[in-house]
Amino acid sequence: MLRVGVNGYGTIGKRVADAVRAQPDMEVAGVAKTRPNFEAQGAVREGYPLYAAIDERVDRFEEAGVPIDGTVDELIDDSDVVVDATPSGIGAENRPLYESHDTPALFQGGEDADVADVSFTARANYADATGADAVRVVSCNTTGLARILAPLDETYGVEKARVTLVRRGGDPSQTGRGPINDILPNPTTIPSHHGPDVQTVLDVPIDTAGFKVPATLMHVHSVNVTLESDATGDDVRELFADENRLFLVDPDAGIDGAGKLKEYAMDRGRPRADLWENCIWSESITVEDRDLYLFQGIHQESDVVPENVDAVRAVAGVADADESMATTDEALGIGL
Ligand code: NAD
Repeated sequence: MLRVGVNGYGTIGKRVADAVRAQPDMEVAGVAKTRPNFEAQGAVREGYPLYAAIDERVDRFEEAGVPIDGTVDELIDDSDVVVDATPSGIGAENRPLYESHDTPALFQGGEDADVADVSFTARANYADATGADAVRVVSCNTTGLARILAPLDETYGVEKARVTLVRRGGDPSQTGRGPINDILPNPTTIPSHHGPDVQTVLDVPIDTAGFKVPATLMHVHSVNVTLESDATGDDVRELFADENRLFLVDPDAGIDGAGKLKEYAMDRGRPRADLWENCIWSESITVEDRDLYLFQGIHQESDVVPENVDAVRAVAGVADADESMATTDEALGIGL
């Protein structure tokens, strides 16, 4: 069994811990928290060994009556792989810590690409991470784009991708984020960082532009890809239907946006109403000459979770891409 430690038990970290626990070949060595808040209490309830991420704060956990098993150094020592799911920028500060223990580490998409030796999306470049000491699982938006562009590029060739990302202002728990009544070109410069970020995992020409809107549920992408060879909308639908992490939203389902997608996830009994798959409106898939158009919803809090699980296997060198993705998907119930 691969022992996986999770440093940073917030939005991404707690989902990764649960996903690791569900795998037949992995177990959670423990999770590290900076403070004894509701998520720390939740970790204890889940039965995860809890470690203090900052040595000087051990007392705070004891005073709050939240039992801890030690400090983050002990967790790293006891882990075969550590998933760093701390806020953007903290991962880079933590890298020397993992190196000092000689423990391979995964970082998240909020970090700059140079935090790690390789950036990662399982469908695009799993093999690049085999045996690496440090891997960055790219952001939710980048993951969502790489998952559609990889099969398109393999099958038809991508001459040029142009994507407008309508981004949620914050996650539901991020009470301080916005906007609350605006529509912001964000960034106001073009390209946004997402296009170059896709190119860290996949060699395709792509330009991206971003907006931020008053929503917390999901991101929505308007995608336009000029293909190198001919295809029809049905060809692309067939191609995507073979990809387990792409969910084609049936026109008859009456799912008209992110709200109903989340409702659907709840109806399906998904933990935390998570949607690990890209949600592509099937009827939006349209090809004019060689120009493909589609709309997709990306659940920012969860699409990177299966990618983290696969990245653990990649750095441990225990499975190839197809084996790992199949194991991850079966254990989590991915594929709608
Ligand atoms: P979060 O704020 O929800 O969780 C981060 C957790 O790390 C919190 O529990 C915080 O208390 C803890 N923490 C802070 N400093 C720490 C330290 N020094 N050591 C250990 N733990 C510490 O953040 P998140 O949304 O889970 O984001 C984590 C990473 O994942 C970021 O790089 C982010 O860009 C990336 N990411 C986030 C999303 C998203 O939509 N939430 C999507 C994809 C990728």
